Amino acid sequence: MTAILPPDLPNAFSFSLEKETGLARAGRIRTPHGDIETPMFMPVGTVATVKSLDQQDLEKLGAQIILGNTYHLFLRPGAELIAEMGGLHRFMNWARPILTDSGGFQILSLTLIPDQAPMVKITEDGALFRSHLDGGERWMRPEDSIRVQQLLGSDIMMAFDHVVPDASGPELVKEAMERTSRWAKRCVDAWEKANRQSAHGKYQALFGIVQGATHPDLRAESLRALAQLPFDGFAVGGETIGYNMEQTVEIFQNLNAELPREKPRYAMGVGRDPQNLIDVFSVGVDVCDCVGPTRLARNGALYHGRLTEPTPEDRQKGKIASFETPYSNGRLSIQRQEFARDERVIDPDCDCATCVAGYSRAYLRHLWKAEELTYYRLASLHNVRFMVRLAEQLRTMITK
Ligand SMILES: [Zn+2]
Repeated sequence: MTAILPPDLPNAFSFSLEKETGLARAGRIRTPHGDIETPMFMPVGTVATVKSLDQQDLEKLGAQIILGNTYHLFLRPGAELIAEMGGLHRFMNWARPILTDSGGFQILSLTLIPDQAPMVKITEDGALFRSHLDGGERWMRPEDSIRVQQLLGSDIMMAFDHVVPDASGPELVKEAMERTSRWAKRCVDAWEKANRQSAHGKYQALFGIVQGATHPDLRAESLRALAQLPFDGFAVGGETIGYNMEQTVEIFQNLNAELPREKPRYAMGVGRDPQNLIDVFSVGVDVCDCVGPTRLARNGALYHGRLTEPTPEDRQKGKIASFETPYSNGRLSIQRQEFARDERVIDPDCDCATCVAGYSRAYLRHLWKAEELTYYRLASLHNVRFMVRLAEQLRTMITK
């Protein structure tokens, strides 16, 4: 089914596949705010900011798209206020594409706060939850999630999903997965009703989210239900994705044949460690995002290492590259005494503003220990650029 679009509104969303190498793919997503070369890593701007960076930093470091959190922006400053200010792009002074999540995962995280239950009540209608800011009760139904995302005016919206912890047991996982499919239909209806346009008159793409935790049969059933709806792309979400990488890879391998080849694939919450990008891009993921790079930067963990041609062992596993690093998980811990007099930059192969300017490990360690604000910016510039560059390099390896 194709939406009827007014003549002055070109359908500015498309995905074209440029090259496939094994399961890995290189492509291009077209949005009303510009093109995105895939595979790519998307920095997370939870409350309309990627922590400690500004939008000029993000442009310079090559971020092609950023993620905004519907849940957080809904609560503060509120979607209506952002709409009044011209939408999220204008409000935050960011001209490139934006993807907004649906709020489903944040609502799940509320249920995981110890001693705060019951913060959330899920019914067929939607989720009733208490704001973590003022304790007030709020509803988030599929229609609310879409409405909020339309007011924000993102280029890619996510369907509202019911996310449950992996340990929930197969019956509850199945129930939540089936509810996610019914909610997906309601999201599509709300999207079609607005003629697939944002409150600011631009085409908005809508992606469905495959659930089903760690059960292959439920994941497959979830995808089959969603694939009947006219989504522009498909995401795979849930607690496992990005946390348990072995299972994440297995889930994508299992779904690979049934994921529509001509639509983008998004691994939600993947990209904490450099190796994670190799893992998911090797199984056909086009887009991933993670708060890891900025969060780890603030905690003193800075990426270090480089891509190499796959080792025979990695090649056998279908990996498109290997990652070589002297540090565990490719992260150097800047607090360590060994760096106190280290004049080297974080990573000599890195082209981020921090490394290019020549800031030494010794200086960064000092700033970190003194909890100076400059540290957070310099460290985040490095970690975010590191992941964006890694995705660029992996794309080159796939296309060559
Ligand atoms: Zn750097």
